[in-house]
This record gives sequence, structure tokens and C-alpha cells, in this order.
Amino acid sequence: MEAILKRYFGFSAFRPYQKEVIQAILRGKDCLVVTGTGSGKSLCYQVPPLVVGKTGIVVSPLISLMQDQVMALKQRGIKSEYLGSTQTDSTVQAKAESGQYNILFMTPEKACSLPLSFWSKLKKAGICLFAVDEAHCISEWGHNFRAEYELLDDFRDVLPGLPFVALTATAPEKVRSDIINYLKMKDPQVTIGSFDRTNLFYGVKFFKRPRLFMNELVLDISKYLASGGSTIVYCRTIKAVEQISKSLKEAGISAGIYHAQMDKESRAESHRLFIRDEVQVMVATVAFGMGIDKPNVRQVIHYGCPKSLESYYQESGRCGRDGIASVCWLYYTRSDFAKAELYCGESPTENKRTAIMESLMAAQRYCSIATCRRNFLLGYLGEKSQSEKCGNCDNCIDSKKEHDMSKEAFLLLACIQSCRGKWGLNMPVDILRGSRAKKMMRYDQFDKLPLYGLGREYSSNWWKALASQLISNGYLTENIRDFYRTIGISAKGEKFLNSARQDCQPPLVLPMTS
Ligand code: ADP
Ligand code: ZN
Repeated sequence: MEAILKRYFGFSAFRPYQKEVIQAILRGKDCLVVTGTGSGKSLCYQVPPLVVGKTGIVVSPLISLMQDQVMALKQRGIKSEYLGSTQTDSTVQAKAESGQYNILFMTPEKACSLPLSFWSKLKKAGICLFAVDEAHCISEWGHNFRAEYELLDDFRDVLPGLPFVALTATAPEKVRSDIINYLKMKDPQVTIGSFDRTNLFYGVKFFKRPRLFMNELVLDISKYLASGGSTIVYCRTIKAVEQISKSLKEAGISAGIYHAQMDKESRAESHRLFIRDEVQVMVATVAFGMGIDKPNVRQVIHYGCPKSLESYYQESGRCGRDGIASVCWLYYTRSDFAKAELYCGESPTENKRTAIMESLMAAQRYCSIATCRRNFLLGYLGEKSQSEKCGNCDNCIDSKKEHDMSKEAFLLLACIQSCRGKWGLNMPVDILRGSRAKKMMRYDQFDKLPLYGLGREYSSNWWKALASQLISNGYLTENIRDFYRTIGISAKGEKFLNSARQDCQPPLVLPMTS
């Protein structure tokens, strides 16, 4: 195994989990491999065929993804092709039947449409594994469900006795069990690697006004380009893609663009230019997605908050695949969330809408926390972090000073208590700031509350930042009611209020600017 690794790939050692998976495959065991992007999953199915001299079948969702892989493998002297393009399929198929490939890629549709005679010939020639890449696409719980993947559920019967290998970079428990069930995996070895991409820096910038937003973005990109390497800017809308590429052009930076409304050829051309370093910046929607295996992307900027932390992890993870220090910035304004909430309205079922809202709330929390971003992200993906501070995110590097916020926290919690869980955050903040808005007088005579106007010295954004802190520290809870977000007091918050009223509350220290 080591000799093959050295000879074909030029690496001197396997990563520990790779060795474990490869050995299991060679023993004929089914494997589920869940590890972060860039951790080297593909090696797990690339090495066994070379060890045993049989063909490995790999199902993959996109032609472009397969093309890139085939090209890279061929350069290493590994015999490889893909099925899924009508022009070349018949020759490839014939060669495959006589066992001429080390690795044969195909789309799930293709895998299911191949005649049984193909599979029996291939079996005779020798197959050593059946791998399903991007396996989370099989589950509706994943963030990237693809109906074609469901076709694979009968495949076990076509290829009995062969190790099935499912690989993915995202798999919450539900997705994992879907993968195992759909593929009918037998007592699989489940290998869960770390999601921690230690070479990536995580940071967030908040902007009050979109105009400033754009200027800063252009400035940041040009600063970064000076140091070499490429940048991907992810936008939420096609309009933003166009605006940003225009602003970049005005600043003398040529950028490729990529979104779903471009025709196939222009998308492929754009992709090519970027991969070949003929443009340094790619401005795109998330349509520029899977299969961007470009090792030297140094920076991924999200212009606008992504719809979930899972997708943020995936998208930001497209930088630094070569292990060299790279940065992930997220730029957002508060209205990002307001608009996104509207999209939920279009979703079919209530469960789905609630799921969308919850994902969005987690993403928003990521934006507003004052503690380690990496730990928050890893925690969300189900991984415990080693230490409280990673030292490689904006909050760890530039930690805000800690202050005694007992008085302010008391005001905010007491005010939220008076709202009795009926409102979102704006109402209590408006009360504290002594707002003259009509709603104050109309509802429950909020302007007569003893707390009314006691928090004028701070801006409403400041109060909202404090609320985020209190949420992440468990004093407040966010809830969804009839598709509105409401804010309430947790048991811990109640306890705090009670002891504060009896004057026996130890100081509540939070990282806030006072
Ligand atoms: P994934 O599919 O998990 O996103 P890849 O298989 O594309 O990751 O691998 C990511 C990078 O890590 C590639 O550049 C690959 O060459 C490199 N890599 C994989 N395994 C090893 C190894 N054992 N030693 C050094 N580099 C490796
Ligand atoms: Zn950190």
C-alpha cells in the first residue's frame, strides 16, 4: 500500500483514517467515510484497485467532477474513464468489460441504466469496490438532495458481496442512517474523521450599509490578490454576482462569474479560466459548487449570510485544500436574515419551513457570537473541540474585552420577561430605548412600564448584540411561532432575574464593548 501511495501519488504516508478505510475495503467490508472537505477521501477508493489489480466503480453526481478526477488520475498513470457522456460511452463500456480500467466513474443514472450483461462481464473481469461519492445526496435530510441518487437503492442486489463505500463531508446522524439504509450496507465500518480545517481562518464582518459593504469587499479582494492565490466570492443572488463583478472590473480586477442562468458553455468556460489561474477571482452563486478541486484557493468570501452552517462549512471549505493557510470571511448585514425568512414561506411543508428557519438561526448565531467561531462551527457539526480558543479566528485573535454586564443584562431580561414571549427582539429593545413608536402605546401600554426608556444610552444594535451574547450563553431562547421569531427567557435566565432581584447575583461577565 505504501509503495503504491508513493509511486502513484507521491505521498509518503497515509492519513490515519485513510489506512483504516483502505484496509477494511481490502477485507471486503462496507465502509461509510465521513470527513471534512479536503481531508483526502478520494484516496480511499483510489488505492484498493491499484493494490488488487481490479476495477473500482465510483458513482459521482456531476460530469465535470468526474472529468477533473479522470484527468488527474490519468496524469498519475492510473487507467481511468467515466460513463455518462453519450459520445464516448460505448467505447468506454467495451473497454471496461474487458477490465481495462483501474477506476471507472459514472453518474447514478448511468449506473442504473447499464444492462445486467455489462455488470456480469465486469464481474468476470474483476471488480473490487463500489463507491458512492457525495453520498449525502441520497438523503432528503442532507443539504443537497439529488433524486437520481435514490435510484441506487437496488444496487446491492446487482453487486452482492462487493464492498460498498459511501463517502461524504456532511453527515448528521439522520443523513448517515439514510445512506446506510438506502445503499443496504451491511454492518459498515463507520469512519468519522475530524471536520476541523486547522489551516483555515474564520472571520465575520458586519456592515450597516450595502454601499460600504461593496467598497470594503473590493478593497479586501485587491489586498489579498497581491499575495497571490485565488479568491471565490459567494453571493446570494445573480444580481449581486453582476454588481460585484462590475465593481471589481471598475477597480481593475478581472473576475469570472458563474451562476445557474448562464448557459452551459459559458459556465464551463468560466470554470476553466478559474482553474487555470487565468482569472484570479470567481464571483458566483452557490451553483459554483461541488467539484471545485482547486488546491490554491486562498480566500472564500461570503457576501451575505449562507442559508445554513452546513452549506457554509462546505462552501468556505473550498479554500486551502492544499493545507496552506487560507481565509474564510463572511460579510453580512442584518437585512440578510429578514429577507431569508421570506423565502421560507415558499417551502412546501411546515416541517421543512421550520428546518429552514432553524438552519438560518444557527447561521445568524455564528455571525453574532463573540466566542471562537471554529468551535461554534465544529460544535454545530457535532464535533467537540479541543480547547476554548482556536487562535485562528477573528474572535480568538481580537477578543473583545470582558465587562460586567449584570445591570444591562438585567434590564434586557426583565424587559423581555414583560413581553411574555409574545415578541421578537425589536419590541423589548424599543421599550428600553424609550421609542415613541405607536406600537408602544397600542400594545399593553408598554410606554407605562417602569423599564421604558431605561436603556437609552445604548444603540439598538448594541442591545441586539447583548441579546446574541445572552442567547449563546443560555439566558435567552429564540423560538419560532407562526413563522415569527420570538424571544423568551430560559430557566437559567429566570434564575438570574430572581437572584438579581434579591441582590445576590454574581456579576455576569461578557465580551462586550460598553
Ligand atoms: P476530499 O475528497 O476529502 O475533499 P481530496 O481527496 O480531494 O479530499 O484530497 C484533498 C487533498 O489532500 C488533495 O490535494 C490530495 O492530494 C491531498 N492528500 C490526500 N491524501 C494525502 C496524503 N496521505 N498525504 C498527503 N496529501 C494527501
Ligand atoms: Zn477561534
